[in-house]
Amino acid sequence: MKLQTYFDSENNGHKSFELPGARPHYNPDRPGQVEHIFLDLALDIPNQTVGGNCAITLLPVRSGIDRLTLDAVNLNIQSVQVDETPQSFDYDGEQLHIQMQTPTQMGKTIEIAIAYSVEKPQRGIYFISPNKHYPDKPVQVWTQGEDEDSRFWFPCFDYPGQLATSEIRVKVPKLLIAISNGVLIKTEEDSHYKTYHWLQEQVHPTYLMTLAVGDFAEIQDEWNGKPVTYYVDKGREEDARRSMGKTPEMIEFFSEKFGYPYPYPKYAQVCVDDFIFGGMENTSTTLLTDRCLLDKRASLDNRTTESLVAHELAHQWFGDLVVIKHWSHAWIKEGMASYSEVLWTQQEYGSQDAAYYLLNEARSYLVEDSSRYRRPIVTHVYREAIELYDRHLYEKGACVYHMIRAELGDELFFKAIHTFVQDNAHKTVETVDLLRAIEKATGRNLLFLFDQYVYRGGHPDFKVAYSWDTDSKLAKVTVTQTQATSDTNGSRSDLFDLKIPIAFSYVPGNSSNEDRVETRDSSPEQSSTVNFKTFTVRVHEREQSFYFPLAEKPHFISFDIGNNFLKTVSLEYPVQELKAQLQSDPDPVSRIYAAEALAKKGGLEVVKALSFALKNDSFWGVRAEVAKQLAEVKLDQAFDGLVAGLKDKEALVRRAVVQALGTIKTHDSYKALKPLVEDGDASYYVESAAVNAIGGIGAANLDEKPKEEKVLKLLQMVLKEKAGWNEVVRTGAIAGLSQLKTSPQALDLILEYTAQGVPQALRLAAIRALGSISAGQNNVNLERILEQLAELSKETFFLTQVSVAIALGQMETPKAIGILRSLADQTPDGRVRRIAEEAIGRVQKNVGSDQAIKQLRDELDQIKKQNQELKSRLENLEAKSSTTEAS
Ligand SMILES: [Zn+2]
Repeated sequence: MKLQTYFDSENNGHKSFELPGARPHYNPDRPGQVEHIFLDLALDIPNQTVGGNCAITLLPVRSGIDRLTLDAVNLNIQSVQVDETPQSFDYDGEQLHIQMQTPTQMGKTIEIAIAYSVEKPQRGIYFISPNKHYPDKPVQVWTQGEDEDSRFWFPCFDYPGQLATSEIRVKVPKLLIAISNGVLIKTEEDSHYKTYHWLQEQVHPTYLMTLAVGDFAEIQDEWNGKPVTYYVDKGREEDARRSMGKTPEMIEFFSEKFGYPYPYPKYAQVCVDDFIFGGMENTSTTLLTDRCLLDKRASLDNRTTESLVAHELAHQWFGDLVVIKHWSHAWIKEGMASYSEVLWTQQEYGSQDAAYYLLNEARSYLVEDSSRYRRPIVTHVYREAIELYDRHLYEKGACVYHMIRAELGDELFFKAIHTFVQDNAHKTVETVDLLRAIEKATGRNLLFLFDQYVYRGGHPDFKVAYSWDTDSKLAKVTVTQTQATSDTNGSRSDLFDLKIPIAFSYVPGNSSNEDRVETRDSSPEQSSTVNFKTFTVRVHEREQSFYFPLAEKPHFISFDIGNNFLKTVSLEYPVQELKAQLQSDPDPVSRIYAAEALAKKGGLEVVKALSFALKNDSFWGVRAEVAKQLAEVKLDQAFDGLVAGLKDKEALVRRAVVQALGTIKTHDSYKALKPLVEDGDASYYVESAAVNAIGGIGAANLDEKPKEEKVLKLLQMVLKEKAGWNEVVRTGAIAGLSQLKTSPQALDLILEYTAQGVPQALRLAAIRALGSISAGQNNVNLERILEQLAELSKETFFLTQVSVAIALGQMETPKAIGILRSLADQTPDGRVRRIAEEAIGRVQKNVGSDQAIKQLRDELDQIKKQNQELKSRLENLEAKSSTTEAS
């Protein structure tokens, strides 16, 4: 056995995913098949109590089972019956053990009936109501089962390997609506209460059972005669249509793409207050955060909501219809749901948007890989399953689906997906089932791809150098896998073995590359005009050189044409070729890579090429990326090129230009951004970015001191006057303030916005900002910050705890560690615990390798280790004592 420790375990410079206490997780032994779950409940909202009866129909797998163990956390168990006969049971607050009077008989179903209630539940079911700080909050009750939280609101065999039909009958105050999985089969009402009775006739796992209760407006839509309903707070009906109105089109789209018509009798989306995730794909009844509801102005450049709607809908097939057998295979559903965002983007906005969307998913994973940890996508070693819900699972998973698609081609890919969905509908799957479906449908064995990208961590980091030999008419391309250290050449551990297409590209009518940038004035049509000569090479060593005889010198080179492989790439091509690629490559991702490589080279010629692209590229994503790269080139001319981008018609480009200007901390950038802060922009996000950027510029040590005061005034004005949709603009102001690190006034303002009663989104931003502003504050103020964070860490709301942990993680004082430690120890949430522990690591790094701290670390590790050993000894003892009892 090898013990992983948190602080010192680094492999290849990557921190370990496995924290102390991580262990293998398996599904439990199965007493039989759960056939049906019936919850008959009543809500007592003022007392935050839910209770009633949970009836589970179980078909035993064999005869002679006399003990059943169910998951049930912090419930009051009143009685247990099996087939209407009272049973003896013991309950330790986590598991309910039923001692059966009559052992099971194979083939004879039993009905377990448990009378129970739960008061002020910590997880699983959430009661939302107005309070003195937030008097306008709606009254709502909603649930969140994934991953293992259903056990907090009803007793169950709580793991995804058990699929059953379900039924929820719930009594609520008459003014409220109750929504749940499946069809509404009956309602009843008396003078004060209304009872809703919902039935889910297709099997699904416990984590997808849901209940949402509130005084909702109900907006009806439909697909193929099936009701599609949006539930939102009253008054937000228009926002609901604006935000979710494409749902029927999406249902049509995914039904076709997945080769299986939408399988449930209805599709409801309920937008709830204080939701702890973006969305949750409960079977036929998705819950969404109400923050996804767009007003008219937000809909201008917010694509997140549309992607969220597509993501949760895609889960109705990937996750709900085809269910993962164990959390370790969750990428099957999360990867596809994330890839469905790409599929929908392609359908709705075209291929360039889709390619750019995928690039950003890849980048999101790459940041986690380089800054947090590296892990195989499939692993069953963790502390809590929720830790797996990271960017490896979602974004890298999406990239894997894309590589499968590229490897098979569209026709075979979708054929394989159809086979996978059709063969596994209403069943559970593991990763191998996807491989099998691919093989069955296409004959292709993609294990090599899964081995490299799914079952082990990492990705290739390519350095690609190109040169042309005029005399011999040879193109030379040297590919280096820089992720593999040179001494591993020969050992296979870090190397990737892939067949990569390299294309040499010719732009007709351009015998020379010279001066095309300056002579072409219209928007370049980066499409069919380019001719490619493509070769596929096997890249499998640390460094390989390939020679290609060509009739003519190519205008540019496309390494991994199509950019289908998940990778990083650093292009070492001559400026001329990069310029040609930026201008003419039809693949926006290649143009972006070319812009990055150009910016690294710098110089006036590069600035000209980038400025031209910012003005003329046909695709907004490239223009946005080019803006970022222009700011990287430290030349005055770059600034001029960049400022021109403020007039771009696409808000998403303007946002990027503003952010880029923010990195150039000069009077000129201040002057360029100030009007946006004062007069605004059509887009909330552009305005927010400007407000944020101007904070950074104000903080820069420019020669006039009053600048900081001017910026403070501006930001204060924004905070006073620009409350608006989801607090996007004011959140920008808080981020701007947090950069004025030495300013006590900025700190005072931020502290003000961490108070109860401040709109939640703004308050969370202010809490996080305490971390970054702490760096420049004096000791007295540092204490104030720590005090406030310690106070805030006592609040139980998940998002507050996360914000506190993030803030503390940015601090440079060992005092932050104590607060983080107690947060980690006391939080009921595995994600908070993990974030807090990772933050401790960061603070320790910030503080430096002080001997005392090092010692503390070692002691802590020691204690953890001992604790683990004690725990496993205890478990052994318990296991022994229970076998003694049974025998
Ligand atoms: Zn998801």
